Parts: sequence; C-alpha cells; structure tokens
Amino acid sequence: MTGELDSDRPANFITQIIDEDLAQQKYQVIKTRFPPEPNGYLHIGHAKSICLNFGIAESYRGTCNLRFDDTNPVKEDTEYVDSIKRDVNWLGFQWDGEPRYSSDYFEKLHGYARELIEKGLAYVDELSPDEIREYRGTLTEPGKNSPYRERTPEENLALFEKMKNGEIAEGKACLRAKIDMSSPFMCMRDPVIYRIRFADHHRTGNKWCIYPMYDFTHCISDAIEGITHSICTLEFQDNRRLYDWVLEHITIEHHPHQYEFSRLNLEYSITSKRKLNLLVKEGIVDGWDDPRMTTISGLRRRGYTPASIREFCRRIGVTKQENTVEMGALESCIREDLNENAERRMAVLDPLELVIDNYPEGKEETVTAMNHPLKEELGTRELPFGKRVFIEREDFREEANKKFKRLVLGKEVRLRYAYIVRADSCEKDEAGNIIRVHCTYIPESLGTEIPDHKPKGVIHWVSAERHVKAEVRLYQRLFLVPNPGAQEDFLATINPDSLKIVKDAVLEESLANAVPGQSFQFERTGYFCPDSRYSGDSAKVFNLTVALKEDSQKAQS
Ligand code: ATP
Ligand code: MG
Repeated sequence: MTGELDSDRPANFITQIIDEDLAQQKYQVIKTRFPPEPNGYLHIGHAKSICLNFGIAESYRGTCNLRFDDTNPVKEDTEYVDSIKRDVNWLGFQWDGEPRYSSDYFEKLHGYARELIEKGLAYVDELSPDEIREYRGTLTEPGKNSPYRERTPEENLALFEKMKNGEIAEGKACLRAKIDMSSPFMCMRDPVIYRIRFADHHRTGNKWCIYPMYDFTHCISDAIEGITHSICTLEFQDNRRLYDWVLEHITIEHHPHQYEFSRLNLEYSITSKRKLNLLVKEGIVDGWDDPRMTTISGLRRRGYTPASIREFCRRIGVTKQENTVEMGALESCIREDLNENAERRMAVLDPLELVIDNYPEGKEETVTAMNHPLKEELGTRELPFGKRVFIEREDFREEANKKFKRLVLGKEVRLRYAYIVRADSCEKDEAGNIIRVHCTYIPESLGTEIPDHKPKGVIHWVSAERHVKAEVRLYQRLFLVPNPGAQEDFLATINPDSLKIVKDAVLEESLANAVPGQSFQFERTGYFCPDSRYSGDSAKVFNLTVALKEDSQKAQS
C-alpha cells in the first residue's frame, strides 16, 4: 500500500506533487513507468530516469512498469530489449510483473484511432511528408489546412482501412488528429498519429503495416496501465497538450498526468542512442559496452558499481533546470565507492627490474600486505619477496630534486610492506635506456623504521620471479570537447588517445583469479577491474576504472 515518502529518500518537485496528490486522496497507489524505445542500449541519462521512476515507486511503496516503446519497427531489436532489461536489473531495480510493450496495445490503439475518426477528430491525409511540413507553418506563421481535412468520417474510415490492409503505399497517406492548424504549439497542428511502414516488427511480425506515433501511443499506454504520474524529459513539455487532448477525446477511464524534468547532460559524453549507435557502427568503439562509452553496459564493463551510479543520480537531483554535469561528479562517486570497498593490490604497469645485490641468490621470503588499510576485517595476504623485483619505471631517476619522493641513485626508499633499499647504480642498453637498477637493502628494516635511515617515500613493486603478466587498458575521455553532442560533426571531436593499451604489466599473483565484477585498487595508480570481453583463462586484461586522483586527466590535456 502506498505510504508517505520514506524520510531518507530524496525529495524533489515531483515528490512534492505526489505528496499533494496523496494528501487529497487522488490516488491510492502510485504507479510510474520507465518507457525506453528499444533502439539502442541505455546510457547514463536513462539511469537518471530509471532512478527517478523506480525510486519513486520504491519510496511510496507503489509500482513501476518497464514498458518498451516499440512503435517504430525499423529501428527496434530484441538485442536492445534484452540489454535494457539486464541494465535496469543491474542498477538494482525490478519492474512490476512482466515487461510491457506498446505493441501489446496495437489493437486497442487502432480502435481509439477509429473512435477519433468517427467523432470527426481525425482524418486521412494524402499530402506528401514534404507538403505536410510546408503546410504546418512556423513558430511565427500559422499553418494552413490540408485539402483533405474535411473528408467525412465514412470516407476516412474507408481510407484508414485501406491503409491498414496494405493497399496504400508508404508515404502516400497518414492519419492525422484534427486539432488546430494555427495553434501556437506546433505539436497541436494536426499531428500525424498513424503512418504506413511496410516493415517487420520485432514482436508483431508482418501483422501490421500501419504504426501509431509516439504522442498517440504514449498517453494511451499510460492510461491502459493505470499510471498515475507519467514522468518524462522537458522536450515533451509542449506535447503534454497533445497527451491530454488525446485522452480527453477518447473513451478511456483513467487519465494520467505528465510531468517533465530536465535531461542529464554529462560533459565529454554523448547521451543520444542514435549517436552512440554511430560510434558502434563506425567501429570507433568495440561495442555498446566499450568501457569509454557512458552507456550503462560500458560503465559496468569499466568497473562502475550500481551503487555508484545510483549515488550519482541522487547527487544531481531532479529539477526543471537545464544544466550540464561535470564528468568529475560521476568519477567522484565511483572513486568514493571503490576507496571504501575495493581491496588493494600491487601492480607494475611499466616494469623496471630492481636487483638487490646484497640479497642472497635463490632466497625467497614472504611479506604480509593488508587488503585494505582502513578495514582490518578484509584481512591480509602474503607476497613473495626475493632478490629481483619490478618497480615502476617512473619511480626511478638517476638524479632528481627534493620533490621527487621516489628512488634516486644514492638515496633510499621503502618497498611497500618490505625493506628499505638504496639505489647504487643502473645498467643501460646501447640506446641509453635504463634496463636495470642495482641496489642494497637494509636487512633490519622489514616492516620497521630504523634510526639514521629516512627513506624518501614508499613505492610499490612486484616479484620478478613470481607474478602474473597482464594487459592493462588505460582510458581517457572519448571526446576532446566538453559538449560533443552540440558539434556539427561530433565524430570529428573523438580523442585519438582515449585508449592506451599496456601490453606487459606485471601483477601480484593473487590477481590471477580475479574475475569480471571484481574491482581492485592498484596501489598508487588507480582502480582496475578484469575486462569482461578480453579476459579469458590464459589472458588477463584489466580496465582502468578511474585514476586515484581527480586531476590526472586535466593535467594531461
Ligand atoms: P535517446 O535520444 O538517447 O534515444 P530518448 O529520450 O529518445 O533518448 P528513450 O528510450 O525514449 O530515449 O528514453 C526513455 C526514457 O528515458 C524517457 O522517459 C526519456 O525521457 C528518458 N531519458 C532519455 N535520455 C535522458 C537523459 N539524458 N536524461 C534523463 N532522462 C532521459
Ligand atoms: Mg526516443
């Protein structure tokens, strides 16, 4: 039964409306719906709508339907239906009963269209699509009536039947609502409500060759399902008039209300399925779930957690104000989540061999590392330590100033969880590249500080004898400009360096058993997860989820 808003749930202008409706006993149970068109995978903008619609249902102990808005047979596909169900579930939400489909209502919608015709409120127009556009007028000029507007209901019914029976070619006729060609709202200038499409539909096959338009379908589907609050984005604000007009002029009991909120726009990303599809088709990314895509599946593969995305949606809130959210806001949410929950591991992405000259050849000991510095309950693990280890190439310099808190010739650092070492010399290849560093270790320094030795810093390492090799994929933003969607050719703003593949990283052995869905902090580097596409039994491929610190990207660009 519907209750009051749980006190820990986010309040916004829509929950205020619901509170008032409940106070006036307009409804007993709050019913919302999430109505994606199955013409692509869901993106981060959809996550906002999902959290809002399903979140309201949860807060008020109501229900939320998942309804596929599948009225355009040309673009829709069951692959998209499956991915959408998976993504909604993964985000942590469950729809009421079975998923619904607008196509379930084709028969009823057809009946309501006939009702409008019988009432003299719809007519079959034979203007071409171009002529219809021309006759519609502009924002400053009224439209003009189609010469076919005054047909009788009988004539219209007969023509509509011919459309339905496939006797009229595509584009040669359509059904239009008869409203007002001089309305200040363009959507009210006799909108098209049915069109001819000779295309197989993913659910109804070739049963229909006329398909209802969104504005006609959506309000009726909401009414059939008993939706109380139909929540959509601001671009449908004007269309609310049409939503109400249709429901007022057909014989239907329930009349839901539409409310609009502002879309999520996220910097350096695209929130349009059509454009995301282009990235996939052009092979710019390796699929809808490419870790650089801000699709739900891309974020999942990248290592985002459902909780981090829900938290992001909670933080951005719900208003009617158009705005663009910084990518950093999304990144903070996953960084905070993983800082709290991801176990720590050591991994060296660009290995440089360090030989400890005074450490006995063949000796191996184990050192103990904490899985999480702030969570003792996550336990410890044993790491093999020996004469040869790998360190990060950038952690060694022959000379450096005081700001460089890592290994320098003649100076000391601590190897994390192990000994203090001093760099003595380095070997170079013919081209002058450093290939090996020789050092001396302080045997008494294991896990303790000792007088007279002040290491400049702590660096991570991996045993050169025992480790796993891996490919590590480092990502930067997919676009070079903050608002790629606004560019004439958004493909021209692709960042050519958005993916860097590191082939020969070395990881501590415990990561050999890591599986997709797990996340780790590679100490001093960032958060990483096994890639779900390229990781196999033999191959290990890790994705960078997010760097440890916010600024690493900005500094590079
Ligand atoms: P796209 O342009 O990506 O296809 P759409 O709005 O056409 O987006 P739908 O599948 O029709 O996609 O969207 C389903 C629901 O998600 C709608 O209620 C829509 O308003 C909402 N939605 C889509 N994009 C966003 C966004 N960027 N922010 C918030 N809600 C969104
Ligand atoms: Mg759409």
